[in-house]
Amino acid sequence: LLAEYAAERDLPATTLDGENVTLLMNAGLLVDLPSLDETGAEGIGLFRTEFQFMVSPALPRVDEQTKIYSAAIEAAGDRPVVFRTLDIGGDKPVPFLPREPEENPAMGWRAIRIALDRPALLRYQLRALLYSAAGKTLHVMFPMIAEVAELRRCKKILQKEIDRLDRLGKDKPVAVKVGVMLEVPSLSWQLDILLREIDFLSIGTNDLMQFFFACDRSNPKLADRYDLMAPPVLAFLHSVVRACHQAGVPVTLCGEMGGRPLEAMALIALGLRRLSISPSAMGPVKRMIRSVDLKNLRQFMMENITSPEHSIRDSLLLFARDHNI
Ligand code: PEP
Ligand code: MG
Repeated sequence: LLAEYAAERDLPATTLDGENVTLLMNAGLLVDLPSLDETGAEGIGLFRTEFQFMVSPALPRVDEQTKIYSAAIEAAGDRPVVFRTLDIGGDKPVPFLPREPEENPAMGWRAIRIALDRPALLRYQLRALLYSAAGKTLHVMFPMIAEVAELRRCKKILQKEIDRLDRLGKDKPVAVKVGVMLEVPSLSWQLDILLREIDFLSIGTNDLMQFFFACDRSNPKLADRYDLMAPPVLAFLHSVVRACHQAGVPVTLCGEMGGRPLEAMALIALGLRRLSISPSAMGPVKRMIRSVDLKNLRQFMMENITSPEHSIRDSLLLFARDHNI
């Protein structure tokens, strides 16, 4: 797949009418890092730090965590790497953290909820991240944040770790940029406060959509029940993106949705200009972007976003076909 798109690797992700889209890559393990150069990604928009914990028989020590984060930063060079703190629990069990069985693990004790109940886990991870980014800019984001109050608790813990480095006179990052994942719909009702307290936002549509539709992302019986190209989804994303742009806060979408060309086409029409996607999606999505005239598409989307239909997928497909996208 990569070979087919190799010739386009260094071409910009720019639409026919000159709008630039930043294409970043999702990663999580050292084996993913060579894809940065192979795909021409402009950075890592989502580094899933939990993967190291999931494949490790014991809790990775601070120095072991530091090693992986440093390798990612080194591979990226002057491109940014956005590290997401542990998103364990839910569909991502770790061997060394026994849990009670839960009826609703996706809505259960996971991600930042575990981190805030076990703050040492988060503290040590933040310590490893701060060590790895010494002398550089660290981008860190917190998963499954449901309310601004949770973000504030995370930022306090982060500040304690920064203060610790100061106290010990150790090297630290030149800047620490803090972001959150928008995965829990409640947070979108606090956007005006939230956007004053973060440096960037990342929309995690994999989880967000299961909560948006109250529809389990892993239940095969429901796999085709709702469509991401449904007007309520698109209207919701549009309003989030608009709020971010108005507040001047960079917004990225890092769910699998962004890696599918038709979905990505809808997303750029809604105003998204940053997508973090799997390496194999980079070629097809860039090719789509380079064949789109955004002015036409934007108008088409705005006409369709209020449609009462189950989905506007078919209309978008027709639009794409008619416009040689
Ligand atoms: C998401 O929920 O969209 C996301 C990117 O996180 P994950 O798939 O790791 O839960
Ligand atoms: Mg998620």
